[in-house]
Amino acid sequence: MKYDTIIIGAGLSGLAAGIRLAYFEKRVCVLERHTTIGGLNSFYRLRDRNHDVGLHAITNYAEPGTKTGPLSKLLRQLRLRWDDFNLSPQLESTIAFPGRKLRFTNDFEFLCQQVADEFPDQIDGFRKLAAAVDAHDELDLSNRETSAREIVSSHITNPVLVDMIFCPLMFYGSPTPHDMDFSQFVIMFKSIFYEGFGRPYEGVRLIMKKLVRQFRSLGGELKLRSGVQAISSHKGRATSVTLDNGEVLEANNVLSSAGSAETMRMCSNQTTPDNNEQFQPGKISFTETIFSLDRDPQDFCHRQTIIFYNDAEKFYYENPEEQVDIRSGIICSPNNFEYDERLDEGRVRITALANPDKWMNLPEEEYIAAKEHWCGEIVEAAVKHMPDFRDYVVDTDMFTPRTIKKYTGHINGCVYGAPHKIRNGQTHLENLFLCGTDQGFLGIVGSMLSGITIANLHLLHR
Ligand SMILES: Cc1cc2nc3c(=O)[nH]c(=O)nc-3n(C[C@H](O)[C@H](O)[C@H](O)COP(=O)(O)OP(=O)(O)OC[C@H]3O[C@@H](n4cnc5c(N)ncnc54)[C@H](O)[C@@H]3O)c2cc1C
Repeated sequence: MKYDTIIIGAGLSGLAAGIRLAYFEKRVCVLERHTTIGGLNSFYRLRDRNHDVGLHAITNYAEPGTKTGPLSKLLRQLRLRWDDFNLSPQLESTIAFPGRKLRFTNDFEFLCQQVADEFPDQIDGFRKLAAAVDAHDELDLSNRETSAREIVSSHITNPVLVDMIFCPLMFYGSPTPHDMDFSQFVIMFKSIFYEGFGRPYEGVRLIMKKLVRQFRSLGGELKLRSGVQAISSHKGRATSVTLDNGEVLEANNVLSSAGSAETMRMCSNQTTPDNNEQFQPGKISFTETIFSLDRDPQDFCHRQTIIFYNDAEKFYYENPEEQVDIRSGIICSPNNFEYDERLDEGRVRITALANPDKWMNLPEEEYIAAKEHWCGEIVEAAVKHMPDFRDYVVDTDMFTPRTIKKYTGHINGCVYGAPHKIRNGQTHLENLFLCGTDQGFLGIVGSMLSGITIANLHLLHR
């Protein structure tokens, strides 16, 4: 029995692609190595508490019923309703640098006013930057890579403001250190500063479950515990995949969301361009520390949704020398969205840059000790930017690049994948395509759009 398309990975991009193909009556099967769906944006239960793996906030917020923009496009393409995501907007977020603060909401004019107040001589440049963002077609898959820092610095002369603009955009979507490709910058600028943040009251499980239900109701097959060991090919075409248990499944096309280098490693063909520069894995990864609290953050006057902080004289977005870089980070409070009622428990999540090599092969005891040490350091750094919540903590969990690699297969536990993106999704095999992180549209909304885009471009009309 042969499939039209086999999709590797039941993360957001794989499931979104699967829905598109199943809707058009293609015989499609999503294969997932793990026991559950979601990949980088999965969810889990620990000590009787539900946690999201990767959800701080969904970018590209739009009011229900909005006709334009990425969120409405993706709902239309997946035949989902606004209620299916049930998003509530953020309260307010902050970019905090030494002696400087910029607050922002889902209203871009509020940020412009903040820039005008904090950096009066830069507001004209900031508006020119926004005009350059508007003029750029970030979705053109043939765009060449261009330095965003060069373009931003041509409009904004204050290096602190340049770093403050880059800080949230890099933290939420840069696979490269120090600088970003301008198209990626534009995607992140629009999705965070123009459109802003939202979150479903129920967390990411609501979205993941809706996607799976939609996929299955259209006739799609989802196989969990079905890791792909190898992709076989003949005369430049993928012919079948071999699962971890040795089972062979045949397909006319294969779409992989596992990552570009990761997918090349599955290709058994000797001509695989494994050493090719464009398939080199990235090095940017993070630790994520999740604190469960005995009270809502608003009860101790913490109303910020997300704080992007940096305590150094410059913003260093890079693979740190130590296990963790505590000079900067992200503080997220999932409670601080405009829900109709309060969440049942208080949460604070803190993200920090981490060096994958320094976590991967530690003996278990050292690994646990390192987590404990850095958890303390991270929270110490974070409470300079918010009320000290340590007395209210009832449970803590922390994951590292090693956890991310274990549960998603991404080399180095890289959250944003390889530095070089394969925007058209094509590989050395005529009918093997990439979607998700290494196609280049990142984050929750981005990865779903990636799956949709590649399915529409290459697979629907085959
Ligand atoms: C800590 C953290 C916080 C984040 N916060 C946010 C946020 O607030 N907002 C936001 O928009 N984004 C956030 N992200 C990013 C977002 O989660 C990802 O960009 C998105 O989920 C990527 O989806 P994907 O489908 O491209 O990849 P993945 O989710 O990685 O999906 C790939 C899937 O393929 C499976 N797989 C891999 N190899 C194989 C194989 N050989 N066989 C079978 N299956 C395989 C993996 O198990 C995985 O399920 C965060 C990520 C993390 C880790």
